[in-house]
Order: sequence, then structure tokens, then C-alpha cells
Amino acid sequence: MNNLNFDPIVLTQNLVRCPSITPKDSGALDIIENHLNNLGFNCQKLPFSGDNSYEVNNLFATIGTTGKHLAFAGHTDVVPPGNEESWKYPPFSATIDNNKLYGRGSEDMKSNIACFISATNEFISKYGKEFGGKLSFIITGDEEKDAVNGTKKMLEWSKQNNIVLDQCIVGEPTSNQEIGDKIKVGRRGIITFYLSVKGIQGHTASAHRAENATHHLTKLLNNLISAPLDNGNKNFLPSSIQIATIDVGNTAANIIPEMAKATVNIRYNDLHNSKSLTEWMQKHINDVFDKIDKASCVFEVEANGESFLTKPGKLSTLITKSISEVTGRNSKPELATDGGTSDARFIKDYCEVVELGIRNQTLHQVDEFVFIEDIKMLQKVYLKLLENYFNKI
Ligand SMILES: [Zn+2]
Repeated sequence: MNNLNFDPIVLTQNLVRCPSITPKDSGALDIIENHLNNLGFNCQKLPFSGDNSYEVNNLFATIGTTGKHLAFAGHTDVVPPGNEESWKYPPFSATIDNNKLYGRGSEDMKSNIACFISATNEFISKYGKEFGGKLSFIITGDEEKDAVNGTKKMLEWSKQNNIVLDQCIVGEPTSNQEIGDKIKVGRRGIITFYLSVKGIQGHTASAHRAENATHHLTKLLNNLISAPLDNGNKNFLPSSIQIATIDVGNTAANIIPEMAKATVNIRYNDLHNSKSLTEWMQKHINDVFDKIDKASCVFEVEANGESFLTKPGKLSTLITKSISEVTGRNSKPELATDGGTSDARFIKDYCEVVELGIRNQTLHQVDEFVFIEDIKMLQKVYLKLLENYFNKI
């Protein structure tokens, strides 16, 4: 049994000291389970496997039997530290220096989990286990990698068990300059196209007998980026088309290559979806290749989540109120949709979801850290949010 310590800074350190690189858990889920058990939560480990991915351990913890149901969602897994020599302190040492807590996962997102557990501890000590609502933790060990046997399956499991969530906070790092100045109410979608063009190989001196795959691929890529997909809208930045790779694999200067490949990665807003973008790609391919007999282009698609927007509603209003009550700031947080993807993409199909967490500044980098003051502030914001959500003030 781990020592219980609900101080959000110590708890962050204890979690960071578990080197839980996806899909290894390294004891992080046990620490959370022990703390929540102690508060009277009903905890269930939910290991899932299959669907062409590795096995993942997850934790669902819940308290309360009646009233509104709020969930906190997060992940204990972290990305690898990279070259450990480059780190100022060992990446899993959770060293505190100059008011900063260093370590892989400190920002993304163990400090956020620690703050929510710490706030829950204070909330339950103040209002008791029968506080008139339901509160659950949905914690996965696989957000950073495949995300196949994590949050998605926990949500399916909860539905099968007639667990209905009303609202959900995802503890990803969203703040910018100050805690709570930015929250996320949506995310852009991601789609990747793997293009393969096939022509006819030949001697560069006898080009009339060959068909250069590279020429056709570059024409297609040029067409794809010649005009923006859109100009963005009130809630989203413009969609972005990025050519991530171009591969010909030709080692000789006197050979016309037969094959040419490229990877195109698109981050798109709510003006598109994976189906409309796949049609867009096919149209561009037809435009270039319909007229050519001797070359063709095929592609594979990987769609990793549609874009979504949670319409400003009850939860974002409550969050805004709680942030200004704690920080004393009157300015409303920015309701953003930028950045990468998160498990909110799965949760949005079940309930209203908003992401609110620590400042987004060093995640996935060498010397990832969080400010001690930010941890304290975030814990207070989460506590106020619990009080406002369950009408305790
Ligand atoms: Zn994260």
C-alpha cells in the first residue's frame, strides 16, 4: 500500500516517479486507486486488450448514488523521455528546483490528476461522502499512443453498465499565461493520407519509354496545397494541410523512378470531416491522373478522430465562474479548439466535455516542468468547480 498524501505537489511527485511510459503503468494507477479508495470511492481496474493493440490497464472510480454525475478524465501514461542525458534532472526524479517541479508527465498530465484528487479530498472532507451528486474518475493508461484499449473502451463499458455521465472535465494542460485563462471546448480532427504513385521505370536518356512517378506526385501535391482548405471560423483556426514525407527511394541519377510516395497530414476544423476530405483527395487525384494512361495513384487513409465543438453551455459557464472566483480575474477564459488531439474526442459522444488544466508550455519536451504555484492554483480552481457544480455555495 502506498503512503497516502493528498498534498497536490507531493502527489504529483509520487505519480511522476512512476515511469509509466505507454503502455506500462509502473504503479501510477495503484497510487490513484489507493487515494480514491480511502475517500470512499468504488474503484475498478478495467484492463482491456485486443483490436490489434497492446493490453492496457485503466481505472474507473466512482462515488455517490443520486444526482448529477460529473466525471474527471485523465491519463497516467507518458511519452518517453528521449535522451535522458539532456535532462537537467533525471526525468522520473520529480525534482523540485526554483519553484518548478521537473519530470516527464509533470505537465501532461500527472499534476492535473493530483490536483483533482486533492480537490476531491478537500471537497469530501467538507461536505461528506453523501454530497448529493455523483463523481467519477476515468483514468486510462493509454492516451499518448494507440488509445485503442483506454478511454474509448471504458466509455463503452460504462454505457453497458448503465452509467450515465452528465458532464466531464478532461485534465489536459490548457492554460496559457495563467491558470484558467484558456480552456478547450473542441478539437480539430486529424486525417493522414498515404499516397503511392506508380509510373514506368526507365533510363533518363530514354524518357519517352518511361513515365516518371515523381513528376505526377509533385504535381498532385502542388495542387493540394495551392489553395487553403478554408479560412477558419469563429471557433476554429483554418485547417492545415501538411506534406509530411516525400519518398522516391531512387539511388541512381540516370533512372526514372517507377514509384513515388508521400504522406499528407491534415488538421481540420468543423467545416470538414474525414469523409469529405477523402472525397476531396480523390477528386484531386482524378484531376491529375484521369488523363494519364501510364501512371496511377492509390492511397490509404488513417482517420484519427473527427473535429468537434462543445457548444458553450452549463459546464463552460461553471468553469468560467469558478476560475474568476479563485483568481479574481474578470476576463473570461479563451474558449479554444487548437492543439493536438485528446481523449475528449471519445467523451464528446457521451456527454458535454471541456478540457481545463495546468499551463501548456513544456509537454513532451526535455525538462518538462510545472510551476509549484500553478499546481496550488489549479487545485483551488478544481475545488471551486466541484463546489459550484454540486451547488455547495
Ligand atoms: Zn495528455
